Amino acid sequence: MTSVKTVLVVGGAGYIGSHMVWLLGQKGVDVVTLDNFSSGYPDAILHGQFVHGDIGDSRILDKVFSEHPFDAVMHFASFIQVGESVQAPAKYYQNNFANTLNLLNAMRTYGVDKFIFSSTAAIFGEPDYSPIDEAHPKRPINPYGWSKLMVEQALADYDHAYGFKSVCLRYFNAAGAHPEALLGERHDPETHLIPLVLQAASGRRPHITVFGRDYDTPDGTCIRDYIHILDLAEAHWLALQHLQSGGESAAFNLGNGNGYSVENVIQAARRISGKIIPVQEGQRRAGDPARLVANADKIKQQLGWQPAYADLDTIVEHAWRWESKCMSVK
Ligand code: UDP
Repeated sequence: MTSVKTVLVVGGAGYIGSHMVWLLGQKGVDVVTLDNFSSGYPDAILHGQFVHGDIGDSRILDKVFSEHPFDAVMHFASFIQVGESVQAPAKYYQNNFANTLNLLNAMRTYGVDKFIFSSTAAIFGEPDYSPIDEAHPKRPINPYGWSKLMVEQALADYDHAYGFKSVCLRYFNAAGAHPEALLGERHDPETHLIPLVLQAASGRRPHITVFGRDYDTPDGTCIRDYIHILDLAEAHWLALQHLQSGGESAAFNLGNGNGYSVENVIQAARRISGKIIPVQEGQRRAGDPARLVANADKIKQQLGWQPAYADLDTIVEHAWRWESKCMSVK
């Protein structure tokens, strides 16, 4: 197999991208991060070179691609808030779809034809069955999910027409942090359950609001499949090697296959932090399915992926180390 030498990581200053850049550094790969800092942080880039810019800007793309011989591109730069996508679809279609096409077209111009794409469980919409495998119908129920599914479709068509190879990884709930707290989740505003619960534990927030206890689940709260951020990064590494060794385009669902409820997460956070976590009961959040759990058999079988940090307590523990570090440097 030809080894991977140089990779462009778009959105490498964000939560998932920064862990990926770190892992590529551990693997001995040269990295160029391209990020516009709309939600990322310069100090989260722990390896490689950095270019400040936007994938919507073709001049920046020309400069980056003409200066580096990339083997592949990994693309993490997208807006991710489902509710916002309903209120501001133009923003989501522009960045997540149109700007991604701009990136793909620059890759074609410069003869780079391997692409790893951050897709999402949101492409499936309301599940017909659980766990969700790759054959599940794709019916997004918000512009965020559509913007990702449209890129998946474009990638299938680019392969057919141009021989452009891609792997789409449909993330379920990315969570946790680097085990030594080198990196972690820093969204602003934060909307994700685990960091919000831990901020309630550390005192940064007064409480956690549970969005509904009347779902058709054992304890009435929503069930999600939380996958450790480094397990997710490892899946990208395997996908990259797959393409680099001449593998075909593919799409994989990426989760642990374990469902945990909101209540399970709060209990785990209490256990690990040893703190009191005040809970407020809230209404259901619009568009939240009761249960989203991945069937990740395909990536296990085809790429040999295995999660190293599958249990919820480990994920919460690593996130708690990160939250504790953030509190201590404040
Ligand atoms: N959730 C909650 N309170 C919060 C944030 C999230 O009860 O303050 C719930 C949310 O309704 C969902 C689960 O936690 O059932 C995970 O939500 P998150 O936003 O972390 O990820 P999503 O599943 O929406 O991608």
